[in-house]
Amino acid sequence: MPFSTLGLSQPILLALEELGYQTPTPIQEKAIPVILEGHNLIAAAQTGTGKTASFVLPLLELINNTSLDNTVKVRPKRIRALILTPTRELAVQVAENIEQYSKHLSLTSLAIYGGVDAAPHKKRLIEGVDILVATPGRLLDMYTQRAVHFDELTHLVLDEADRMLDMGFIEDINKIIDKLPQERQNLLFSATLSPQVRFLAKTAVQHAKEIAI
Ligand code: AMP
Repeated sequence: MPFSTLGLSQPILLALEELGYQTPTPIQEKAIPVILEGHNLIAAAQTGTGKTASFVLPLLELINNTSLDNTVKVRPKRIRALILTPTRELAVQVAENIEQYSKHLSLTSLAIYGGVDAAPHKKRLIEGVDILVATPGRLLDMYTQRAVHFDELTHLVLDEADRMLDMGFIEDINKIIDKLPQERQNLLFSATLSPQVRFLAKTAVQHAKEIAI
Protein backbone atom coordinates (compact mmCIF):
# COMPACT_ATOMS: atom_id res chain seq x y z
CA MET A 1 0.00 0.00 0.00
CA PRO A 2 1.53 3.37 -1.01
CA PHE A 3 1.62 6.40 1.30
CA SER A 4 -0.70 8.25 -1.09
CA THR A 5 -3.68 6.09 -0.02
CA LEU A 6 -3.49 7.15 3.63
CA GLY A 7 -4.98 10.64 3.31
CA LEU A 8 -1.81 12.73 3.51
CA SER A 9 -1.49 15.74 1.22
CA GLN A 10 1.07 16.56 -1.44
CA PRO A 11 3.65 18.60 0.54
CA ILE A 12 3.99 15.73 3.03
CA LEU A 13 4.06 13.01 0.35
CA LEU A 14 6.78 14.96 -1.45
CA ALA A 15 8.90 15.14 1.70
CA LEU A 16 8.53 11.37 2.17
CA GLU A 17 9.48 10.74 -1.44
CA GLU A 18 12.58 12.91 -1.04
CA LEU A 19 13.53 10.91 2.06
CA GLY A 20 13.21 7.72 0.05
CA TYR A 21 10.29 6.29 2.05
CA GLN A 22 8.38 4.01 -0.31
CA THR A 23 5.71 2.30 1.74
CA PRO A 24 4.26 2.89 5.21
CA THR A 25 5.31 0.55 8.00
CA PRO A 26 2.52 -1.52 9.69
CA ILE A 27 2.10 0.97 12.56
CA GLN A 28 1.90 3.83 10.08
CA GLU A 29 -0.70 1.99 8.00
CA LYS A 30 -2.85 1.47 11.07
CA ALA A 31 -2.33 4.71 12.99
CA ILE A 32 -2.32 7.40 10.30
CA PRO A 33 -5.97 7.00 9.15
CA VAL A 34 -7.22 6.74 12.75
CA ILE A 35 -5.40 9.92 13.79
CA LEU A 36 -6.55 11.78 10.67
CA GLU A 37 -10.13 10.93 11.62
CA GLY A 38 -9.55 12.73 14.91
CA HIS A 39 -9.77 9.76 17.27
CA ASN A 40 -7.85 9.38 20.50
CA LEU A 41 -5.39 6.53 20.14
CA ILE A 42 -3.45 4.11 22.33
CA ALA A 43 -0.74 2.33 20.37
CA ALA A 44 1.64 -0.40 21.42
CA ALA A 45 4.76 0.01 19.29
CA GLN A 46 8.49 -0.27 19.87
CA THR A 47 11.17 2.10 18.68
CA GLY A 48 12.37 1.17 15.19
CA THR A 49 8.88 0.41 13.86
CA GLY A 50 8.37 3.86 12.35
CA LYS A 51 6.18 4.94 15.28
CA THR A 52 7.38 8.55 15.21
CA ALA A 53 6.18 9.15 11.66
CA SER A 54 2.93 7.36 12.53
CA PHE A 55 1.91 10.29 14.74
CA VAL A 56 3.97 13.14 13.28
CA LEU A 57 2.66 12.77 9.70
CA PRO A 58 -1.07 12.94 10.54
CA LEU A 59 -0.49 15.72 13.10
CA LEU A 60 1.28 17.81 10.45
CA GLU A 61 -1.65 17.22 8.13
CA LEU A 62 -4.26 18.17 10.74
CA ILE A 63 -2.40 21.26 11.96
CA ASN A 64 -1.56 22.47 8.48
CA ASN A 65 -5.21 22.21 7.46
CA THR A 66 -6.37 24.40 10.30
CA SER A 67 -3.50 26.88 10.24
CA LEU A 68 -4.48 30.45 10.84
CA ASP A 69 -3.62 32.97 8.16
CA ASN A 70 0.00 33.68 8.96
CA THR A 71 0.09 36.79 6.82
CA VAL A 72 -1.79 38.75 9.47
CA LYS A 73 0.48 38.26 12.44
CA VAL A 74 -1.18 39.91 15.38
CA ARG A 75 0.82 38.01 17.97
CA PRO A 76 3.24 35.09 18.10
CA LYS A 77 1.64 31.76 17.30
CA ARG A 78 0.80 29.48 20.16
CA ILE A 79 1.42 25.78 20.54
CA ARG A 80 -1.01 23.58 18.64
CA ALA A 81 0.56 20.19 19.33
CA LEU A 82 2.56 19.06 22.35
CA ILE A 83 4.64 15.88 22.27
CA LEU A 84 5.95 14.72 25.64
CA THR A 85 9.00 12.45 25.65
CA PRO A 86 11.01 10.86 28.48
CA THR A 87 14.48 11.97 27.37
CA ARG A 88 16.41 14.72 25.68
CA GLU A 89 17.65 12.27 23.03
CA LEU A 90 14.14 11.25 22.05
CA ALA A 91 12.92 14.88 22.07
CA VAL A 92 15.71 15.87 19.68
CA GLN A 93 15.06 12.87 17.44
CA VAL A 94 11.31 13.54 17.23
CA ALA A 95 11.96 17.22 16.46
CA GLU A 96 14.41 16.24 13.71
CA ASN A 97 11.75 14.01 12.17
CA ILE A 98 9.21 16.84 12.31
CA GLU A 99 11.69 19.12 10.51
CA GLN A 100 12.19 16.55 7.76
CA TYR A 101 8.51 15.75 7.22
CA SER A 102 7.38 19.41 7.36
CA LYS A 103 10.02 20.63 4.93
CA HIS A 104 7.36 21.80 2.45
CA LEU A 105 4.96 23.22 5.03
CA SER A 106 5.26 26.50 6.88
CA LEU A 107 5.00 25.12 10.39
CA THR A 108 7.53 25.70 13.15
CA SER A 109 8.69 23.22 15.76
CA LEU A 110 11.05 23.11 18.71
CA ALA A 111 12.47 20.60 21.19
CA ILE A 112 13.03 21.63 24.81
CA TYR A 113 14.64 19.46 27.49
CA GLY A 114 16.46 19.75 30.79
CA GLY A 115 20.18 19.75 31.45
CA VAL A 116 20.95 22.71 29.19
CA ASP A 117 20.62 26.49 29.47
CA ALA A 118 16.93 27.41 29.40
CA ALA A 119 17.41 30.89 27.90
CA PRO A 120 17.50 29.82 24.21
CA HIS A 121 14.42 27.62 24.77
CA LYS A 122 12.58 30.53 26.34
CA LYS A 123 13.51 32.89 23.51
CA ARG A 124 12.27 30.48 20.82
CA LEU A 125 9.07 29.77 22.75
CA ILE A 126 8.29 33.45 23.07
CA GLU A 127 8.85 33.90 19.32
CA GLY A 128 6.17 31.20 18.87
CA VAL A 129 6.08 27.58 17.69
CA ASP A 130 3.32 25.37 16.29
CA ILE A 131 4.64 22.02 17.51
CA LEU A 132 6.54 21.59 20.75
CA VAL A 133 8.45 18.46 21.74
CA ALA A 134 9.36 18.53 25.42
CA THR A 135 10.52 16.58 28.42
CA PRO A 136 8.08 17.13 31.30
CA GLY A 137 10.33 18.98 33.77
CA ARG A 138 11.63 21.60 31.35
CA LEU A 139 8.12 22.17 30.00
CA LEU A 140 6.75 22.89 33.49
CA ASP A 141 9.67 25.21 34.11
CA MET A 142 8.89 27.16 30.93
CA TYR A 143 5.20 27.22 31.80
CA THR A 144 5.96 28.68 35.22
CA GLN A 145 8.05 31.34 33.50
CA ARG A 146 5.04 32.10 31.26
CA ALA A 147 6.99 31.25 28.11
CA VAL A 148 4.37 28.71 26.95
CA HIS A 149 0.62 29.09 26.56
CA PHE A 150 -1.66 26.15 25.96
CA ASP A 151 -4.87 27.96 25.02
CA GLU A 152 -4.65 26.98 21.33
CA LEU A 153 -3.45 23.43 21.90
CA THR A 154 -5.47 20.80 20.05
CA HIS A 155 -3.23 17.69 20.13
CA LEU A 156 -1.28 15.91 22.86
CA VAL A 157 1.10 12.97 22.31
CA LEU A 158 2.59 10.91 25.13
CA ASP A 159 5.55 9.21 23.45
CA GLU A 160 7.19 6.20 25.12
CA ALA A 161 4.68 6.48 27.94
CA ASP A 162 6.05 3.41 29.72
CA ARG A 163 9.50 4.97 29.93
CA MET A 164 8.08 8.26 31.19
CA LEU A 165 6.34 6.37 33.99
CA ASP A 166 9.49 4.33 34.76
CA MET A 167 11.41 7.58 35.07
CA GLY A 168 8.93 8.93 37.61
CA PHE A 169 7.27 11.59 35.46
CA ILE A 170 3.67 10.76 36.40
CA GLU A 171 3.18 13.79 38.66
CA ASP A 172 4.66 16.15 36.10
CA ILE A 173 2.52 14.63 33.34
CA ASN A 174 -0.62 15.05 35.41
CA LYS A 175 0.29 18.65 36.21
CA ILE A 176 0.80 19.37 32.50
CA ILE A 177 -2.45 17.67 31.46
CA ASP A 178 -4.34 19.76 34.03
CA LYS A 179 -3.25 22.91 32.24
CA LEU A 180 -4.35 21.83 28.73
CA PRO A 181 -7.67 22.65 27.07
CA GLN A 182 -10.24 19.89 27.68
CA GLU A 183 -11.12 19.66 24.02
CA ARG A 184 -8.14 17.99 22.35
CA GLN A 185 -6.96 14.85 20.56
CA ASN A 186 -4.83 12.54 22.71
CA LEU A 187 -2.36 9.95 21.45
CA LEU A 188 -0.37 7.57 23.61
CA PHE A 189 2.51 5.45 22.31
CA SER A 190 4.22 2.86 24.47
CA ALA A 191 6.37 -0.21 23.94
CA THR A 192 4.22 -2.04 26.49
CA LEU A 193 0.69 -1.45 27.70
CA SER A 194 1.36 -2.24 31.36
CA PRO A 195 -1.31 -1.70 34.05
CA GLN A 196 0.44 1.60 34.91
CA VAL A 197 0.26 2.78 31.32
CA ARG A 198 -3.40 1.78 31.15
CA PHE A 199 -4.05 3.73 34.35
CA LEU A 200 -2.48 6.84 32.81
CA ALA A 201 -4.49 6.28 29.63
CA LYS A 202 -7.70 6.12 31.67
CA THR A 203 -7.39 9.76 32.63
CA ALA A 204 -5.38 11.17 29.73
CA VAL A 205 -6.60 9.28 26.64
CA GLN A 206 -10.27 8.48 27.07
CA HIS A 207 -12.46 6.76 24.48
CA ALA A 208 -9.40 5.75 22.50
CA LYS A 209 -9.03 3.38 19.59
CA GLU A 210 -6.34 0.85 20.35
CA ILE A 211 -3.77 -0.64 18.01
CA ALA A 212 -0.85 -2.97 18.46
CA ILE A 213 1.73 -4.20 16.00
P1 AMP B 1 11.10 5.13 14.76
O1 AMP B 1 10.49 3.79 15.06
O2 AMP B 1 10.07 6.22 14.73
O3 AMP B 1 12.24 5.45 15.68
O4 AMP B 1 11.69 5.09 13.27
C1 AMP B 1 12.75 4.24 12.90
C2 AMP B 1 13.46 4.68 11.61
O5 AMP B 1 12.72 4.31 10.46
C3 AMP B 1 13.68 6.18 11.49
O6 AMP B 1 15.04 6.40 11.16
C4 AMP B 1 12.79 6.64 10.35
O7 AMP B 1 13.37 7.69 9.63
C5 AMP B 1 12.64 5.38 9.51
N1 AMP B 1 11.32 5.26 8.86
C6 AMP B 1 10.13 5.51 9.43
N2 AMP B 1 9.12 5.23 8.59
C7 AMP B 1 9.67 4.77 7.45
C8 AMP B 1 9.16 4.30 6.19
N3 AMP B 1 7.84 4.23 5.97
N4 AMP B 1 10.04 3.92 5.24
C9 AMP B 1 11.35 3.97 5.48
N5 AMP B 1 11.93 4.39 6.63
C10 AMP B 1 11.09 4.79 7.62
